[in-house]
Order: sequence, then structure tokens, then C-alpha cells
Amino acid sequence: MKKLLTVFLLLVALTALWACKDKDGAEPSIYALINGDIEGGSLSVELNSLELKDFEYQSDGQTVKAKGYALNEVLNQADIISGQNLLMITATDGVSAVIDESTAHLCYIMADGQKLNIKAPEHPAVVGIKDVKEFTVIAQEDIDIGIKIIENNSMESISYGNAKLWFFEPSGGQSVKFGNTANKYLPKKGDVGLDAIIDYQNNIVYGHNFDIVKTSQSGKLSWENGKISFEADGKSIPSIMGIAANVDTIIYDAYEIMRSELDKGNKVMFILPDGLSYGQVAHFQQHLNLLGGNYIKAASVNPAISNVALASIITGRSPFETGITERGVKKPNYDDIFDYALSKGLSARYIEGNSTLVATNIEPKLNLPDTNGFTDKNVYESAMAALGDNPDLLFVHFHGIDDVNHDFSPLSSQALDKILKIEEYIEDLMENFDGAVIIAPDHGSVGYADKDGSFKGKHGVFQPDDMFVPFYTFLKD
Ligand SMILES: [Zn+2]
Repeated sequence: MKKLLTVFLLLVALTALWACKDKDGAEPSIYALINGDIEGGSLSVELNSLELKDFEYQSDGQTVKAKGYALNEVLNQADIISGQNLLMITATDGVSAVIDESTAHLCYIMADGQKLNIKAPEHPAVVGIKDVKEFTVIAQEDIDIGIKIIENNSMESISYGNAKLWFFEPSGGQSVKFGNTANKYLPKKGDVGLDAIIDYQNNIVYGHNFDIVKTSQSGKLSWENGKISFEADGKSIPSIMGIAANVDTIIYDAYEIMRSELDKGNKVMFILPDGLSYGQVAHFQQHLNLLGGNYIKAASVNPAISNVALASIITGRSPFETGITERGVKKPNYDDIFDYALSKGLSARYIEGNSTLVATNIEPKLNLPDTNGFTDKNVYESAMAALGDNPDLLFVHFHGIDDVNHDFSPLSSQALDKILKIEEYIEDLMENFDGAVIIAPDHGSVGYADKDGSFKGKHGVFQPDDMFVPFYTFLKD
């Protein structure tokens, strides 16, 4: 029996030994994971390709000679974005040390099998992390790459490295040795949600995959190798790109309102004033009549461009779901509000500018520009004519505000004139219509100074001015 056990143990030991060797007998590769504020977001560095360095450290009063991979040489394999950084060294159990990245050359990675341990003889003891999971670069300068947070009139970008700190708390304060500082961090207990970073209840979270979660819940954020995921209300986003804070709704909620009004037997008119921003109606409020009040704050989709937003509005879905995430005329993955109306035996009319933006089963009525170069007057007249046919659903797309925003900037007098003209058209249409009316732009406009000094407008850049729009509903009781 003893003999059998010995043979068995020997086999186990041999198997373990073989597992550590490649077929050709070479040492297996060991990898160090770098993430945070580096190009590409994360990088796995094969340590075997680097040179082992000799160094010494003190142990029980004795000088010990050792070999390790110099941490700065490992980090040099990545393209670090900022010139000034912190470095967070995190163990698999979450225990972390944060040092100045410029002192990484004083730290060594020693491999123990597949485990990586840090020896940092010139740093405080907390840097001696055992069983390292990852190295996270944390930019100390403002960089462009990160999670964009827009709220009211402000926007900020939190770099991915800095965002990792949402999930940790300092423990024990700063320690110093030979002038080198270190801070110990431990993972926060419990879930980290939006309330850790945003003071508002109603927020919209946008994914890199173009999906969207609108939520009044704090939800759950998680860090995984440079990406931050979000989960709330049974929906999840694998990697978030931005957050719109403190918004009442999202533009494609218009779909559900249209549907429920049609279900109630009401006629529905949806009016899309392309490019009208929340900032514009607030700025021009004293000049406006119908459009100067009665609105709530809605967020657009990302990217905030016409065909992407339009596809979302007519389907009630995020761009991830519609499959329309960039310019180009395509059919959404889901039935649209026109399909819905027709499926209920209702009539639907769709009045567009001079080109198709999204492929729909119902043929849009296209309208050419008039002598001023705008399609709005013809769109208005086509809509009036359509009202004469008494359709159950009428969808009207005015393009002029966006055109003028692009050419003269959203707060220009030209933009105001155009808004006032379209407001007149809308008021006229509403006077000739008995039913529920929803007015919602597809996106707003961000003003900027062009190279020649002239003011222009743009959108699709995820800023408050292109993402926030006014949302109007005039429903029957
Ligand atoms: Zn547009």
C-alpha cells in the first residue's frame, strides 16, 4: 500500500513538473498584465522576453543577491499616455500599493512559478505585493481617453486608470522610505454604483458597444482589466464609454409614448426638429413661444448623429439594438413605429427632407429644398397636406435648425430665426391636428470657432450641448 502511494505521489510530482515545461523543455511563459492609461487599455507583457536584472535587498540584516525583472522595463513595453503617472500594483486578493510611476525602476518583479511578487527594497514595505494580478497606470495629467461624464453644462473625462480608484479605499495613509512614497489601498466592501460618482438619481449609461441603460438605480459598476462594466435593472453594459447625469428621459422613449397613444385610439403626430438643443431653447427662451416651455430634458444616443438617433426614435431601441451605429442608410434590426401602426390596421405617413436617413417599410414623402436652400417649407406643406388625409400617425422631420447650427453655430441669430420659423410651422400643424403631439430632436449642437474664426456647430461629440435636447409631449387627458 505504501509503495503504491509512493508511486502515485511520484506520478503527481512528475505531472506537475511536466506541466511547467513546454514541449521543447523551455521555461513556460510568464506574463505581467498592464492596464489603465495606456494605449489600447491593456497589455500582457511576456516577461521571459526581457532580461533579468541583478539587485540586492536586506533581509534580517543580511544582504541578499537576487534577480528580477525591472518594473520600469516591463512598463516600457506599453505606450503610456500621460507624462506623469501613478502606478497601482494590485494583488489577486485586491490588496494594492500606489507609487509614483517614475520610481518603478527601483522595483523588481520576481517570478515564483506563475506567481509574480514585487521586491522593492527602496520603497515602503507595502509595495512588496505578493501574487500580483495587474499593474495599473494612473494618469496625473488630463488625457482624452476615459469615461466621459456630462451633467447640466459640465463635462469631465475620468481616465480609466483613475476610474479604477472608484473601487478602492486608502488604508493606513502614506508611507515613505528613502524619499519614495507609497499608499496602500484595499478594495471597497460591497457594490460600487453610480452614487459613488454622481449626485443625481436619473442617469443614462452608454456603452462602447452603443448600448444604453437608462436608470434611476445606482446599479453596480465593476472593474475588469481596464474596462468598467455596469449593471442595473437587469440590463448590463460590458464597457462603459460615458454617462449622462440628471436627465429626465432618452429621446427614444418617444416610441413607447407614440405606441401607447395609438393603443388608446389617439391620433399621434411626432415632430423632429433636427439639431434643436436643450442649451438653445434655454438661451432663446424669452423669444420662444411653444418651444420655450413645456419640455423636459432628454438625452440623445451615442453617436448623436441624425440617422443613428432617428433609427432609435422610431424603434424605441438603443443603437446597439437597432444595429445602426454610424452614417449610412440601413434598416433597423427591429420593427419601427410605422410597422406597429400598420400592424394594428392604422394609417401612417412619414414626411422627410430631401433624402432617406433610415430604411423603413413605409415610403417617406421626400421634399426638395426651396429657393432658400432649406426643405422646411416644403416639409411643412407636405405635412399640412398629409393632415388633410387624417392619418393615425404622422411623423414630420424638419432639418433646417441643424443646417443653420452647422453653418452659423447654435446660439447665432441665424439659428434663432430658423427656430422661430420652425416653431411657427409646428404651431400651425398643431392647430390643424387633434391628437397627441410629441416633439423631440434627434440631437443638439456644440458651437465652436472654426480655423478662420467663424462660429460653427457640430454634434456626435458627447458633450452636454449635443447630447441634451428638449422633449415635449402634448397628450390628451
Ligand atoms: Zn440630425
